Amino acid sequence: MSDCLFCKIVKKEIPCDLVLESENYLAFKDIDPKAPIHILVIPKKHFEDITELSFQDLDLTAGLMEMVSKVAQSENLEKGFRVVLNTGPDAGQSVQHVHAHVLGGRSLTWPPG
Ligand code: AMP
Ligand code: ZN
Repeated sequence: MSDCLFCKIVKKEIPCDLVLESENYLAFKDIDPKAPIHILVIPKKHFEDITELSFQDLDLTAGLMEMVSKVAQSENLEKGFRVVLNTGPDAGQSVQHVHAHVLGGRSLTWPPG
């Protein structure tokens, strides 16, 4: 996916504010944070969204959730955090490379908009 923004971040063609990296995942700060802590967790391999990822590779899906937990732990989010996977136009997905938002550092209201 040569024109995918997050693939370019994986290939280090575009810089990011790195939080954690493993063999298969990258976690970096969202450029437009919606909470004091707002981190994106992505698989390095390109999948359009959580549906494509989970239908094609359950192990990589589980590993994404493990990476989310590692990020929450490393950011000391023991008071709580929210994981969001915007999927498709109704959810406002703007980057078509699956990413989990990890939001925390403040009290989060429910329901979201
Ligand atoms: P979504 O709207 O769920 O697809 O989320 C995409 C997220 O990517 C948004 O929260 C953007 O602020 C974030 N974003 C866009 N470009 C970058 C970038 N270059 N580095 C970090 N985050 C970005
Ligand atoms: Zn991609």
